[in-house]
Amino acid sequence: MSRNFNLIIKNGTVVDGTGCAGRVADIGIQDDKITYIGSIDNLSDCRIIDAAGCVVAPGFIDIHSHSDFFWLVSPESESKIHDGVTTEICGNCGISAFPLKGPLLENKREGFRKFGLDINWATAEDFFKRANEATSSINRGFLVGHGNIRACVLGYENREPDKNELAEMEKELRDAMESGAFGMSSGLIYPPGCYAKTVELIELCKIVKEYNGIYATHIRDEGDEIEAALSEAINISKESGVNTQVSHIKTWGKKNWGKIDKIKKLIDDARSKGIDITCDRYPYIAAATDLDVILPSWVYEGGTVEEKKRLGDPLLRKRIIKEMEHEGQSHEFWGTIMISSVFNKKNRSYEGKTIAEIATVLRIQPLEFVLDLLYEEDCRVSVIFFSMSEENLAKILNWDFVMVGSDSSLRSLKGVLNYGKPHPRGYGTFSRVIRKYVNETPIFSIEKAIYKMTGFPAQKLGLKDRGVLKEGLSADITIFDQGTITEKATFTNPHNYSKGIKHVLVNGKLTIKDGKHEGVVNGEILKK
Ligand SMILES: [Zn+2]
Repeated sequence: MSRNFNLIIKNGTVVDGTGCAGRVADIGIQDDKITYIGSIDNLSDCRIIDAAGCVVAPGFIDIHSHSDFFWLVSPESESKIHDGVTTEICGNCGISAFPLKGPLLENKREGFRKFGLDINWATAEDFFKRANEATSSINRGFLVGHGNIRACVLGYENREPDKNELAEMEKELRDAMESGAFGMSSGLIYPPGCYAKTVELIELCKIVKEYNGIYATHIRDEGDEIEAALSEAINISKESGVNTQVSHIKTWGKKNWGKIDKIKKLIDDARSKGIDITCDRYPYIAAATDLDVILPSWVYEGGTVEEKKRLGDPLLRKRIIKEMEHEGQSHEFWGTIMISSVFNKKNRSYEGKTIAEIATVLRIQPLEFVLDLLYEEDCRVSVIFFSMSEENLAKILNWDFVMVGSDSSLRSLKGVLNYGKPHPRGYGTFSRVIRKYVNETPIFSIEKAIYKMTGFPAQKLGLKDRGVLKEGLSADITIFDQGTITEKATFTNPHNYSKGIKHVLVNGKLTIKDGKHEGVVNGEILKK
């Protein structure tokens, strides 16, 4: 075989992302495409990567990312590309970078100024314009957040839209889809998404369906009411016909771990009736979110300004404590919540500690501490909840309708993104799946693991030119040493890149070489 290649990957074990068995082969790349897979003997004077002993896989696709703003802060996308990711889908859980209007726009402007990011867009169209002008080391696609759409039209009001308002929301959604969004996401535990009734979501999903997009949903409840919440997602999918993704599927809280088989049955039944529903999951038993999600929902109604007022009102504070009597007194409960990041310097020492630990040292009731902290931090405190079961996690990852997704924004060891104690999944999701679930306590083969990180999400998104290694497709390729691959990020020491990922190509350009970032920014903005 002799042809013109810019680059040849020699002698690696090609695991092509379809789930088929790996085989030793060479891959020839011309410009940004894979042009040949087989045996390449005649070595022209092109660049050669020796991949002997390594797995050559499609670049990993992180279908559940939250890098919406941070990729503009750190185009090299370090934590993700060092974990083998070449494409991420942002805009999950109802929260996206567009559309932004009114208080939502002000809020984001203010919030990201300290990262040096100037938010100079408001509409979906303007955002995509900015995105196209920006550079990135990896490819990126976007969902539009239902929360954004709702906040732009109804603010943070707890009510249903009237006819005109619904029409306005539909227009925002259409604008986003026309601009290139892959679909819509919802975050039904967060305001304002939590104020939406099922019918509103069905109406909007009918539009997503028109564009053949996906609906990714952080369902209304992942614990006590998970069956109802999952049934709602299935119903939305059934009524609108939309292609649905249940985000970070889990059974939250020890008393709900036993629901695992019921959950699987609900989804299996829906799928057997032809409902297009799949899930993603990260390989950790802790979740990361905002601390105030533990409060009764009336506390955060109307946005953070209102929330702070309520936290400062002694009578309302008493009411919160009364309503949370059950959790309030459980030392075990507070021991499962770890502070991951705060804004005020004086509270930084709490990062990496559980609320139970802090409250013991301060000799204060944990809930009192939480309310004080939220007040001081303008209601913005990120936490990690250790709320899930290892056994269930292994089961879930192995379910045929589950793919891998980090549920995290990118981070970096350098610059402003190296702050706090973020959930390690933003650094280690993909290498951890291989290290833990293929190498150490195997639940599936390397081929199946790779499929869940590449071919499967690509198929879900309708990405026809990525996700598998095939002649004619984009040369997004991750080359790793299966024997040594491991995540290095931990809960107490999260800012570490994964090891064992040797080379990463994005659109044909070698971006990670021998584990080092080359500074190449060859990613593309992907559009539906
Ligand atoms: Zn979520």
